[in-house]
Amino acid sequence: MRLTDGVETLKSVGEARLTSFNRLGISTISDLLEFFPRDYLDRGKISPIAELGHGQMATILVSRVGNAQFRQFGNKNVTRIYFSDDTGQIGISWFNQPYLKQVFAERDKYYISGRVSWGVAGITLENPDWEKAGADNLSAGRIVPVYKLTAGMTQKVLRGLIRQALDATSGQIADFLPQDILQAHGLCHRGFAVENIHFPACGEDFYTARKRLVFEELFLLQAALLTAKGHLKQKITPTDMFENMDINPILQALPYELTGDQSKVINEILADISSGYALNRLLQGDVGSGKTAVAMVLCYLAGVNRFQSAVMAPTETLATQHYHAFSEIFGKLGVKCALLSGSMKAKEKREVKARLSNGEIDVIIGTHALLQENVEFARLGLVITDEQHRFGVRQRAALNSKGRAPHILVMTATPIPRSLAMVLYGDMDISAIRQMPPGRQPIDTYSVTKAYHQRLFAFIKKEVEEGRQAYIICPLIQKDEDEDESGAQNKQEITQVIKFAEELKTGDFADISVGILHGRMKPAEKNAIMSAFANNEIQVLVSTTVVEVGINVPNATIMMIENAERFGLSQLHQLRGRVGRGQHKSYCILVTDAKSKVTKQRMEAMTKTGDGFVLSEMDLELRGPGEFFGTMQHGLPRLLLANLYKDMEVLAAAREAVINMREVSHIPLKNKIDKLLTKVKGVAL
Ligand code: ADP
Ligand code: MG
Repeated sequence: MRLTDGVETLKSVGEARLTSFNRLGISTISDLLEFFPRDYLDRGKISPIAELGHGQMATILVSRVGNAQFRQFGNKNVTRIYFSDDTGQIGISWFNQPYLKQVFAERDKYYISGRVSWGVAGITLENPDWEKAGADNLSAGRIVPVYKLTAGMTQKVLRGLIRQALDATSGQIADFLPQDILQAHGLCHRGFAVENIHFPACGEDFYTARKRLVFEELFLLQAALLTAKGHLKQKITPTDMFENMDINPILQALPYELTGDQSKVINEILADISSGYALNRLLQGDVGSGKTAVAMVLCYLAGVNRFQSAVMAPTETLATQHYHAFSEIFGKLGVKCALLSGSMKAKEKREVKARLSNGEIDVIIGTHALLQENVEFARLGLVITDEQHRFGVRQRAALNSKGRAPHILVMTATPIPRSLAMVLYGDMDISAIRQMPPGRQPIDTYSVTKAYHQRLFAFIKKEVEEGRQAYIICPLIQKDEDEDESGAQNKQEITQVIKFAEELKTGDFADISVGILHGRMKPAEKNAIMSAFANNEIQVLVSTTVVEVGINVPNATIMMIENAERFGLSQLHQLRGRVGRGQHKSYCILVTDAKSKVTKQRMEAMTKTGDGFVLSEMDLELRGPGEFFGTMQHGLPRLLLANLYKDMEVLAAAREAVINMREVSHIPLKNKIDKLLTKVKGVAL
């Protein structure tokens, strides 16, 4: 049997089992061997019957005593069989498996595993799993693998087939990792790893096997991502290098001194730009940490070197805000800025595009639409994306095809845990601003129950009377989980948000202007509401999460979040960052009636720390990476074994190995990477 053979070559795999296998995505022997367990049961310990405690999971080693009793109840039947060991006797019942009557031979011993139950009929094991005791047991007397199943497949059958496949292909599993990497990182051979991830002889072998397989998983993923993006790290031709590196004029034009972190990041960027390679850097920094100033310095530098810059914001509102901030500074410096936005008149747009393509404009600010084909640059040298948006691999390729490799800076306020950043931005250098500009007041954060509503509304009213503004965030809540007409449901949820807002409008906030914002509104409506809020024409903005990205309203001092348990910590932190942007004391109030321990931990974390990085690490620990992958819509291949939180050390080792690998000369490895490449091609990073 070969690894590439179909699973149907295994004994006792016919049509039916083949169908089950295909449903699990398994068609070859090799697929089957890489179908790793989702869990393990420790059935290595055998419990004497006399010591079975109610409720525990236990394995006994017993022989049958007496004959099986069989009873029919309508269309159900029960087979009850008694077993014994040296310490006692136990009666076990099986439902609708009459063939078991003949299965247990009196002279043989059997392992039986299940949950112990003490009842009126004596001690028994519920839903028991059994296996004849022999030389090579798979389902008891050892650490037992548990697999994901599908109809027509049982744990026992699957274990047997995997054992059969391992034996039939023994010695055939080649190692696609080069010997030097195995040695450098103390990794076992792949053959040993595959055997022991299924049927570990002991705990230690399991850890050795798992470490090796986690390493290869993270190694391959990073190698593929780097290869997918690798060609983008381009050398800059000498004629395209920035000559003038003097940033003093813009530093003097800024109305403040840069913070230490801002200066540090700018120095890192200047070093990149002078390196001869295109800048390719991710800048992480909490909301309000002053990333825009970094962008301005960079655009200025491009401008004085006669290169154009494109600055892309996720929303039109934000683009407009950036435009005003940039114009104010650049006006004095002779660097020309312009805004290109979807809501501009066609004629205006045409004009801006013309001035862009003839090189009159130095810095163009807009949304992602800036990357569209009909936007032409005379000499694009720098692309900055702000907040959420990231380049897809294809988009970057499109940029490069515009003639030269522009410098790329991606700015994000979503603190990404270090491990995720390492995987997702493996090709990028990463900078962080952790220090806030001086004079920033910390935002007081409280966690309360809904019983506090009246007091909260009174507090908001008082702040509004003093001239301030407030956000109230209401997440969409799925009331009826069974209903899967998602469209209709969504509408219903939004109706709830609207109802909540209407009640406030006519009740507690009758003499205050209340605005509503939700995802079902048209962009123009949304913009109108956002601008009204920015201009203080609306004092209380009730919103679903659409407010999360964007908008700077320094006069807003309260962020109240209903059902706060619905959000990840990073999201909550992001929302909190919408306030505390002006000189007034600001508050974040988390409202939740959820009582779980995890919710309590999370709310407490929010009230205790204002550091987004700390919160994102905690999010990863408490909720797992799905949260981050989900919100970022990455569509990366699912990790089979690796846990990005717990396997941080292996991740770092794998990354180092990928980076140190100058070229992939080892053919088996190259093939593996190529295979994965096709999967990560469309990923937006
Ligand atoms: P973000 O990182 O969220 O994009 P911004 O760049 O919008 O943050 O900066 C937030 C506010 O802080 C802005 O009003 C900006 O003018 C101000 N700011 C930025 N850097 C400094 C600094 N070094 N000193 C004082 N204020 C600063
Ligand atoms: Mg910003």
